[in-house]
Amino acid sequence: MIKYLTMTIEKQKNIALIAHDGKKADMLKWCMDNKDILQQHNLSGTGTTARMIADHVGLTIKGYNSGPLGGDQQIGAKIVEGKIDMVIFFSDPLAAQPHDPDVKALLRIAQVYDIPIANNIATADFLIHSTLMNEQYSHEIENFENTVKVRAQEMQ
Ligand code: PGA
Repeated sequence: MIKYLTMTIEKQKNIALIAHDGKKADMLKWCMDNKDILQQHNLSGTGTTARMIADHVGLTIKGYNSGPLGGDQQIGAKIVEGKIDMVIFFSDPLAAQPHDPDVKALLRIAQVYDIPIANNIATADFLIHSTLMNEQYSHEIENFENTVKVRAQEMQ
């Protein structure tokens, strides 16, 4: 069985937006600055971030649960299902978060699935202005079906 699977990120991307409380103002400004581009894609986000983006920026965005109540984990699960292609996550490096394990889990799963993820404004700017935003993009991820089969055989 093949070790890697080719996954395709379509031209119209599924983008998740998350901001910790100390970074919500930055997120709203960034969304406003990039509204024309963002409205060409499918947006989702953690509960409070999504609500604020809808109310203050006027973008259509699906809201998951609030981050501390499992929203980051919901977004992580959607990455696993291949339903989120990109994450803009303005985390706050200067504030302790009650859901720090969930935040780490989301960063990890984005890495596993080779999902572009921006953790600050500069990276988000470089991402959103990449020519790849207007193209289909193929990347290879590990074929976990194969990995599970091999592991199960090895442990018999
Ligand atoms: P929130 O969650 O958008 O509901 O505030 C974000 C987070 O803290 O991860």
